[in-house]
Amino acid sequence: MSEFVNYLMNLVKTKNPNEPEFHQAVYEVAISLSLVMERHPEYRKEKILERMVEPERVIMFRVPWVDDQDEVQINRGFRIEMNSAIGPYKGGLRFHPSVNLGILKFLAFEQVFKNSLTSLPMGGGKGGSDFDPKGKSDAEVMRFCQSFMNELYRHIGPNTDVPAGDIGVGGREIGYLFGQYKRLKNEFTGVLTGKGLNWGGSLIRPEATGYGSVYFASEMLATRGETLEGKKCLVSGSGNVAQYTVEKILELGGKVLTLSDSNGYIYDEEGIDREKLNFVMDLKNNRRGRIKEYAEEFKNAVYTPADPGLDYNPLWNHKADCAFPSATQNEINGKDAQNLLKNGVYLISEGANMPCTPEAIDLFLDAKILYGPGKAANAGGVATSGLEMAQNSMRYSWTREEVDNRLRLIMKNIHKTCVDVAEKYGTPGNYVNGANIGGFIKVADAMIDQGIV
Ligand code: NAP
Repeated sequence: MSEFVNYLMNLVKTKNPNEPEFHQAVYEVAISLSLVMERHPEYRKEKILERMVEPERVIMFRVPWVDDQDEVQINRGFRIEMNSAIGPYKGGLRFHPSVNLGILKFLAFEQVFKNSLTSLPMGGGKGGSDFDPKGKSDAEVMRFCQSFMNELYRHIGPNTDVPAGDIGVGGREIGYLFGQYKRLKNEFTGVLTGKGLNWGGSLIRPEATGYGSVYFASEMLATRGETLEGKKCLVSGSGNVAQYTVEKILELGGKVLTLSDSNGYIYDEEGIDREKLNFVMDLKNNRRGRIKEYAEEFKNAVYTPADPGLDYNPLWNHKADCAFPSATQNEINGKDAQNLLKNGVYLISEGANMPCTPEAIDLFLDAKILYGPGKAANAGGVATSGLEMAQNSMRYSWTREEVDNRLRLIMKNIHKTCVDVAEKYGTPGNYVNGANIGGFIKVADAMIDQGIV
């Protein structure tokens, strides 16, 4: 480990104990940036990275609400306003029982680099709550969202901080949050993205993260003169990102074999076709059911329940060409990475944020496969949120084709940035270095321009 990485990690661990995901995210970036610090002493002198690991602002608040049984419930709400050097804070809200300060700091930290890579003027932020929307009625979700916004509205705004969705926060939740914000502020503005199409949302925003991850994969394959046509793909998750990842893979002629949720996964040897994907979308978005029901509907598919006693995830242990982890952080560990490589997988495009452990990433980099880190591969979601903000400011809507073309171009440019930067810093083909360094430079230079703030 270089002296710089050692020093930074000591600092971060001492100041932020018990936040292992945040340490992990900073560590990955620090390794890449040690290459930059050697060439650019000004970044060390200005203590840019030391400043970037300290959120500009952390807001933490009580969210009381009353459930359908008339019982009082108390959750915790957060917003991490990480970095606003290149634009208003921008990043999703996550509602999941695992949410805590460390997880949101890791997500907010990564968001800063990701947003910079999109080339749009967006700073980085992230927020959410340990509230679990699973199993709650629509009325309960609404009451929770209203209570959450009763505090959050003071801290956000179209030119200050613009939240969006993430795990557990989809169109329904954004609707309730937006309604309450509008009521409190008496303003109809683009304060949230992922809005409904009738009230300021952008076409392609729901699809954007999944589509973008597949566009990024296509760009990586193109460097080897290949396409997705006929490729066997493993996809995890069955939420927003997973669904539109499958849709785009199918459009480009690939074959999808798996999907999952937190209870288990399905393997469909015949492939998940359009009709089966429609079933999944209805199951997950309307009926809010479990992926197990896929195997009850389509008898050829095999359902395997999650086994917490296993030290690997069997979803990643099937013969395939490409993998699209699209569920959550650390879903691919070292053993999973070995299984993927053993089964012939040579492309990973991360729809999820930080789905691979550092051990898994090292194995992929050593094997020199096409490994697209989330900061780059899943940036299409926030990029299209940026396009939603632009349309809101103009009070105008672009067509589906216009937004999709812009998304495709942004993904192409992010890919090119990663390739060029990795090459410039002497590590050709290393998309991790490309994304980390490519995202860093713009933010770092803006911070220097703006003085010590
Ligand atoms: P989502 O619609 O809520 O879906 C999440 C999926 O992942 C569900 O199938 C969920 O299963 C599964 N999952 C969540 N936590 C899990 C866990 N601890 N173990 C196993 N499975 C788990 O969320 P999403 O928007 O698709 O987000 C998925 C990933 O993409 C996250 O890492 C998110 O940060 C990242 N991402 C999202 C966007 C976006 O625009 N939405 C943009 C960039 C990155 P259950 O239903 O059983 O929980």
